[in-house]
Amino acid sequence: MTHIFAITNQKGGVGKTTTAINLPASLVAMKRKVLVVDLDPQGNATMGSGINKNEVERSVYDVITHQCHCAEAVQHTPEAGYDLLPANSDLTAAEVELMSLKMKEHRLQYALAEIKHEYDYIFIDCPPALNMLTVNALAAAEQVLIPMQCEYYALEGLAALMDTIGHIQKVVNPRLEIGGLLRTMYDPRNSLTNDVSDQLKAHFGDAVYSSVIPRNVRLAEAPSYGLPALQYDKSSKGAMAYLAMAGEMVRRVEGIKAPDTAHITG
Ligand code: ADP
Ligand code: MG
Repeated sequence: MTHIFAITNQKGGVGKTTTAINLPASLVAMKRKVLVVDLDPQGNATMGSGINKNEVERSVYDVITHQCHCAEAVQHTPEAGYDLLPANSDLTAAEVELMSLKMKEHRLQYALAEIKHEYDYIFIDCPPALNMLTVNALAAAEQVLIPMQCEYYALEGLAALMDTIGHIQKVVNPRLEIGGLLRTMYDPRNSLTNDVSDQLKAHFGDAVYSSVIPRNVRLAEAPSYGLPALQYDKSSKGAMAYLAMAGEMVRRVEGIKAPDTAHITG
């Protein structure tokens, strides 16, 4: 069974791409087979996975505009260990082109249907906008994973995202669920962080992951080497936090005890 997550938040800089690289790398370390779909024309997840977006011959753009099959565009990442459907600036055009295409909301969903049986998990890294690309991600996904920084304006943006998800559930994808909120760049010494965190738990209850991702410089450095933190500095707080998050995800979605990760970090 494949678990498909859209990593979504229309706010930029909240840790979507960092999550789209590091959570899959941790799941690979737990012996899961994972595909990452880069659905942001900035191609940050592609570069951060060690694949040069400027040298990509076939990308997610070619897939959703039916110029190639999904399997022809998927690459295995050199070090991270997951497969990647890469993106680059070509994808900017897709936003406009999709508007005139048939089944424009379902392009990614149908493309992934061809290969999803090969994976335990698929993560879609969304652009920082509630646009047609994000709609494609929400149509293809079963769950939405929402990374967020615990700051005042974060809650305001969340209301717009919940409205969009509600609309998608009604019109495009009735199976879509809130797969969880992940607190990123978390600083427990900051009282606003704690206030917002409490409000999130009051409103979303168990949907808020217990694992938090601390602010950690290794997480910010690793993408420039094309590596997840686990490969860049496996004992870093950032790598450990994403491993813990992956363990929590496995327990939640597979309903089983996560495998022992001591051999990975030890
Ligand atoms: P998004 O994809 O939501 O725009 P990113 O994952 O690209 O956000 O993160 C924005 C910036 O913050 C990047 O430079 C990234 O390296 C950095 N960053 C993300 N998460 C962390 C973290 N936990 N600690 C430190 N830096 C982080
Ligand atoms: Mg991003």
